[in-house]
Amino acid sequence: MIVGVAASVLLADRWRASVLRSNKAAFHSTATDLGRTLSAKLDSNSALLRATRAIATIDPNAGETRLTAWYRQYSRGATGSPGAAAELIEPVPASRLAAFGRTVEGEPAFRALLTGPFKITPAGVRSRYCLARAIVGPAGIGSNLYPPLLDYCAPTLPGIGRSPFATLFNSAATTGTTIVTAIPGFALTAVGAAVYRLGTPLVTAPERRRALTGVVGVSFNSDTLIRSLLVGHDSLALTLYHRNVGGPLTLVGRADARAGGGAPSPSYSQRRDLGEGWLLATSGTADHAAWADGQGLIALLIGLLITLLLLLVYRVLSVSRRRAWGLVGEKTGELAYRALHDPLTDLPNRSLVLDRAGQVLARARLLGVTVTALFVDIDGFKQINDRFGHQAGDEILRQVGARLKTVLRDNDTVGRLGGDEFVMVIDSIGVNALPELVAERILDVLRQPFELPAPATAPAILTASIGIATGLPANAEALLLDADLALFKAKAIGKNGYALFESAMQTDAQHRMRLELDLADALEAKQFSLVYQPMLDLHSERVVGVEALLRWNHPSAGLVRPDVFIPIAEENGLIIPLGQWVLEQACAQGAAWRAKGHALNISVNASARQLERPEFVDEVGATLAQTGLDAKALTLEITETVLMRKPDATAQLLARLKTLGVRIAVDDFGTGYSSLAYLRQFPVDSLKIDRTFITGLTRSSEALALAHTLIQLGKALGLQTLAEGVEESEQVRELQREGCDLAQGFLFARPMAPDALEAFLDERRAPLVEVSAAAPG
Ligand code: C2E
Ligand code: CA
Ligand code: CA
Repeated sequence: MIVGVAASVLLADRWRASVLRSNKAAFHSTATDLGRTLSAKLDSNSALLRATRAIATIDPNAGETRLTAWYRQYSRGATGSPGAAAELIEPVPASRLAAFGRTVEGEPAFRALLTGPFKITPAGVRSRYCLARAIVGPAGIGSNLYPPLLDYCAPTLPGIGRSPFATLFNSAATTGTTIVTAIPGFALTAVGAAVYRLGTPLVTAPERRRALTGVVGVSFNSDTLIRSLLVGHDSLALTLYHRNVGGPLTLVGRADARAGGGAPSPSYSQRRDLGEGWLLATSGTADHAAWADGQGLIALLIGLLITLLLLLVYRVLSVSRRRAWGLVGEKTGELAYRALHDPLTDLPNRSLVLDRAGQVLARARLLGVTVTALFVDIDGFKQINDRFGHQAGDEILRQVGARLKTVLRDNDTVGRLGGDEFVMVIDSIGVNALPELVAERILDVLRQPFELPAPATAPAILTASIGIATGLPANAEALLLDADLALFKAKAIGKNGYALFESAMQTDAQHRMRLELDLADALEAKQFSLVYQPMLDLHSERVVGVEALLRWNHPSAGLVRPDVFIPIAEENGLIIPLGQWVLEQACAQGAAWRAKGHALNISVNASARQLERPEFVDEVGATLAQTGLDAKALTLEITETVLMRKPDATAQLLARLKTLGVRIAVDDFGTGYSSLAYLRQFPVDSLKIDRTFITGLTRSSEALALAHTLIQLGKALGLQTLAEGVEESEQVRELQREGCDLAQGFLFARPMAPDALEAFLDERRAPLVEVSAAAPG
């Protein structure tokens, strides 16, 4: 804002200054032009004066006839100032007045000028008269300026008052220079010069006075002259001055065309010496001067407007960002809850039960105790539904859930897996209760009658079957599977009772130990390989990347799934060299494919243990350098739960990884049921939406709503979204509708060995141009 305002002020000031500069330049150029024009006009007056004087000097007897004839010749084609007239005036002593009268009356041309008899104006007897002997000028002007027999040397003249001419003649005669005088009351200016007898010395003033035969005067209307210059310049005023030799500067004429309208603009002035004592002062502004203050103000307003717009844009952006984060916060709780709870009973659903069971298992393993899972299934629930209706069935399920909770401690888990199947997970920490006793209590509470809503008339009596698994299996899924098998057994032996599955601990532990031992040598024995699963752009349906997935080819057990051996490798630390091996293989393979023209992005899964080591960043950098894979072609996949484990340390590590240029994807996104706002602190590029959300996409509106929310969140945060585990084409259509960017799943391709993948790419004609797997938009 401050920068914007400052820049606007600076711009406005610069703009105003430049307008002022151009106004000033325009003024000076106009003023100079006017000066030249005026100078030319004054020169033509001087020329008329000099020519008339030359004739009068050469021909002392020249009169009106001769001068009129000459003037006609002279003015032919001349452009001289039209208002100028020249007069030849002769000093006539009283003694010679009669002779002068005879001479001029003898001249027909002069007589034509006289409208009456020979009569001197003003009348009176004086010792000397200054009378015109010839008047020439444009038709009519000659006699109009002054009456023909005006005595210029009379002390006062009609209409003029005190005669300025006597002084003018005297100065002209004495100095021998051109003398200019303003004629008061007439806006006239007279320029006079003395005519001397040819051949007489003219060095001193007395000599010049003695040689004087007459004075030539050229008169013109100075105001008209100046005003004529101002035609078309309505923002100027002109003042014409003249300085006679040795005299003061006197005002000759002035014209002001400024009307007071137009753009307010500072006034400029120029004084120009036009030669021969003339000085023209021009003041005002340029024609059509631009309004500098106005334009400056407009520039300022435009600058401020732009600043305001930028500010608005910034605000809108930041508000929409804030809103996105608000949405994240809002949706997180809802999402986490919906994702993890059964809507009917509000009990944890399968995912949450599995997660809790995993935590219980981990703790139990540390403490050396066992874990028990109980699968509870209501006997004959289908009949209840049929008899009392679904509403009653739902009510019973709610009540069963509530009763099961009363059996357990607060931190034990009761969940509903769907239908009439409930599960409970407990550990033996601090309790001596045998699992069998728990089962008995469950059967007890469920035997109590269930009150049913109308139209049911009598309470319902239920029985249940329970499967129990106790031990320390490798993972939560195995625990639940064992309990499920036990339930199957309980039902088989006649319902309303329970059955135990006990062998899990032993077989599992043995199996696990075996794998653990073999795993230690597997890397050296080259039993690992990588398969690659394509990722497709949902818009172009092109393959844009592949995910590297690890396979262990066990000599006797065959292909062991990563879900089984990766947890072991994480536990015993083998994941570090194994993860490094995966990274090297995948990067080398990626570089090879890219060299062949397949513009693929390579995704590699990184485990928690790998990310705990600060050296990891350097190892990734070194691997990229060594394999020659472009950093931006590598994506590291990190599961949401791992991200959340040590958020601060992980955020730091990711920031360092980002400086290498690699991309980060959140794997199994949506299952961590952690605050989604955490995404803000991690520099991630894409979200891989977990398969569980995709599977139910076209079957349950709940799953669709969740997938929708997850994709929208990804979009709101400007992240790329990928759908995992796409198996059906309806899912693809739904994902395309939702605007999901990428997809991966058996529908397109299973994970494949490198050769098979190449064949697949060739078949699909993977693009030879780089299709960036960068964020959408
Ligand atoms: P993940 O990272 O979520 O990998 C995707 C898993 O989903 C793969 O299983 C893949 O085969 C499977 N899958 C892909 N499309 C579909 C589908 O349409 N339907 C179904 N049902 N499954 C699909 P996989 O290869 O068994 O890997 C399992 C997990 O093991 C991976 O889950 C990953 O967490 C881990 N893993 C695999 N390789 C590595 C590795 O090199 N390093 C680490 N740290 N973990 C790995
Ligand atoms: Ca993955
Ligand atoms: Ca995944």
